[in-house]
Amino acid sequence: MAPAGDNVVVSKMKLERMLSMKGGRGEASYVNNSQAQAQHARSMLHLLRETLDGVRLQTPPDFPFVVADLGCSCGSNTIYMVDVIIQHMTKRYEAAGCDPPEFSAFFSDLPSNDFNTLFQLLPPYGGVSMEECLASNSHRSYFAAGVPGSFYYRLFPAKSVDVFYSAFSLHWLSQVPDVVLDKRSTAYNRGRIFIHGASESTANAYKKQFQSDLAGFLRSRSKEMKSGGSMFLVCLGRTCSDPTDQGGAGFLFGTHFQDAWDDLVQEGLITSEKRDNFNIPIYAPSLEDFKEVVEADGSFIVNKLEVFRGGSPLVVNHPDDAAEIGRVLANSCRSVSGVLVDAHIGDQLSDELFSRVAMRATSRAKELLEQLQFFHIVASLSLA
Ligand code: SAH
Repeated sequence: MAPAGDNVVVSKMKLERMLSMKGGRGEASYVNNSQAQAQHARSMLHLLRETLDGVRLQTPPDFPFVVADLGCSCGSNTIYMVDVIIQHMTKRYEAAGCDPPEFSAFFSDLPSNDFNTLFQLLPPYGGVSMEECLASNSHRSYFAAGVPGSFYYRLFPAKSVDVFYSAFSLHWLSQVPDVVLDKRSTAYNRGRIFIHGASESTANAYKKQFQSDLAGFLRSRSKEMKSGGSMFLVCLGRTCSDPTDQGGAGFLFGTHFQDAWDDLVQEGLITSEKRDNFNIPIYAPSLEDFKEVVEADGSFIVNKLEVFRGGSPLVVNHPDDAAEIGRVLANSCRSVSGVLVDAHIGDQLSDELFSRVAMRATSRAKELLEQLQFFHIVASLSLA
């Protein structure tokens, strides 16, 4: 097979125009590989409910209550969480002796997100009364809309949103920092496709990118949030202060995935430069990294900011089946990074890469199940 030297280099394109989780409903799609995210989000419901308890009720409820999920992707997780939020707020209104308002739910993600698959998963808006909708699990109790755009910029009119929710998305950077892909820079990530185990200057470039991205996110949300509103944010995090140890994210992208790229180079399928031009635009912050940005921005009060142990990102039916574990790891990796990999080396080489990820993961299956753990940063913020 010819080395794919002339494919798209992600850095040269605006990442935000092409990034998405794998759409559709195939084997490596996000829909079929996001059970771990679902489980981790459900284990944090008590924290979400605490945040929702802090949202101010409008009495009388003259305007729609607006919920926005930022980085909703195309799976059913967003639908489940929006439902939890609306049900919780409905109960709060009822407990306060008021009729609940109408609800609007905005599902927001980058324009390349598979909104079609998401919209098809939405429960029907049954044409029944709001009360009947709320009483039934199979009807939609809100008006839904999709909002395409990057959450690092403005997405909504000023003072229009009551609750912002964002899960497992803010660790995605708006771009791979230019210096990381510049051969003349000390931050050039030679030989690696992620910052796990990279040099200090590469890691610092990622950290700076994360901090300026998060600052843009907070600036935008502070304008869009209604007074009395709240925000619940969850992203991949790390427990170690050193950013070159990316914890669970480091395990996922810095071990078997990294080795599979090296395999392609050693087998002559791609050049080492081609590999070095690919970098995963993810940064798992420490609590301190996150806190510094929130404090510097100053528009939000921190109700809660903590590291939460999410558990394994691998959901397997047969923990003794090494091949299944290998497949699940490769599919999880592909469901989130596959679109970028395909764009960089083409579909065929991408198949080669992920089959090597699966093979390598199969041979270390036991270790993967025991050691691969995700930690998340959980933040509950309200306007200062
Ligand atoms: N919240 C979902 C999906 C998480 S996957 C869940 O809990 O399962 C991460 C999502 O973040 C992806 O759909 C990706 O497209 C989105 N994302 C990454 N960067 C983004 C950006 N700058 N603006 C909006 N969405 C972004």
